[in-house]
Amino acid sequence: MTYPDQAPASAALLERARAVIPSGVNSPVRAFRSVGGTPRFMRSASGPWLTDVDGRRYVDLVGSWGPMILGHAHPQVLEAVREAAADGFSFGTPSEREVALAEEIVTRVAPVESVRLVNSGTEASMSAIRLARGFTGRSVVVKFAGCYHGHVDSLLAAAGSGLATFALPDSAGVPASAAAETIVLPYNDVPALEVAFAERGEQIAAVITEACPGNMGVVPPLPGFTDALRRVTAEHGALLISDEVMTGFRCSASGWFGLEGPPAGGAPDLFTFGKVMGGGFPAAAFGGRADVMALLAPEGPVYQAGTLSGNPVASAAGLATLRLCTPEVYARLDEVAHTIADAVAAELDRAGVAHRIQWAGSMFSVFHRAGQVRDYADAQDQDTAAFGRFFHGMLRRGVHLPPSAFETWFVSAALDDEAISKILAALPGAVADSL
Ligand code: PMP
Repeated sequence: MTYPDQAPASAALLERARAVIPSGVNSPVRAFRSVGGTPRFMRSASGPWLTDVDGRRYVDLVGSWGPMILGHAHPQVLEAVREAAADGFSFGTPSEREVALAEEIVTRVAPVESVRLVNSGTEASMSAIRLARGFTGRSVVVKFAGCYHGHVDSLLAAAGSGLATFALPDSAGVPASAAAETIVLPYNDVPALEVAFAERGEQIAAVITEACPGNMGVVPPLPGFTDALRRVTAEHGALLISDEVMTGFRCSASGWFGLEGPPAGGAPDLFTFGKVMGGGFPAAAFGGRADVMALLAPEGPVYQAGTLSGNPVASAAGLATLRLCTPEVYARLDEVAHTIADAVAAELDRAGVAHRIQWAGSMFSVFHRAGQVRDYADAQDQDTAAFGRFFHGMLRRGVHLPPSAFETWFVSAALDDEAISKILAALPGAVADSL
């Protein structure tokens, strides 16, 4: 079955939404601005399928931008959520489910000795940065162009994700003083890192990096790059913050850290997590060295707090999701991702379209360009218009890709034979549409 391009019920909802919500969306990439057309308003989701308000079903390769690793409304996660909700929605006191979730994270990622739960990846990055500043008594932060760590003022310079999608160098509304505390470097460039530290090493509190960038498309660290981050930060007394919001518990049971292993010279000092660990609910975390985490209030002088942090329903969803992420699930994710990516590559090859597929565990992205993508400049050098046509080619055949050339495709363990067949069947027509 093919779908008409029009989506009348979604279009009507978008118009209604625009009257009360800027651009009609609560997060920019949802607006389809870079690919054009009407964003689909979803009514429900189950397993690998999304159903929109026009009643059409799509195979979901967005997975809510990462969290839905088991597919939608997984019965056991749903049961855990029901049980937790029946016990009350939020206490504003400590409770056992948040302890169990913290234990699960600490067990999975060995260098994380202590972890605090928050509500979003943005909050996790913001808090980790504040903590690094408190610990070192310094203020400057190094980040890499194309890496996204949430919409934290000082981290919006040359950020990936939506800013890459809309080709924004940075955001209005960020004070010059915040931007001045940020050094933006090209990813995978050790000499640039060394120069920055040689010039300003004594002012640098931390380097924050995506463990393996996924917000400019997937751009893995070149061999030795993570080691260099560890070596240079340690030499200058700065902390290394590894942002595993996207990769955490997705690339492997212990995220990108589990795939790449600790850098020579020791593990990152702090980690941030989100997405999968909330199972689709607002839950995220930052954690790491116990001596650094000990600086948090109330014992320490670095303030950080949250009315809903460690929410019992979100914690239950996250915990159930993590417990269901067995080795078999990770093996299945890898298998499914390779089946899809191989088929995409074969179809693009057949049509003579230059492309490059890059990987982080089961996360992958398809660049419409030839040659390795090592940094943000490489990632920007691709045919985003061709991606837009390809995206709509897939959408009209019932497959929902991330609506941006700069995003990861997120597979779920719920992708079954029917869903995969639908993806494979959509590819020839979508590639033809993209030419
Ligand atoms: N860090 C990374 C690596 C991310 O991918 C994201 C979100 N895509 C964030 C931080 C911010 O997370 P949130 O959207 O939950 O604030």
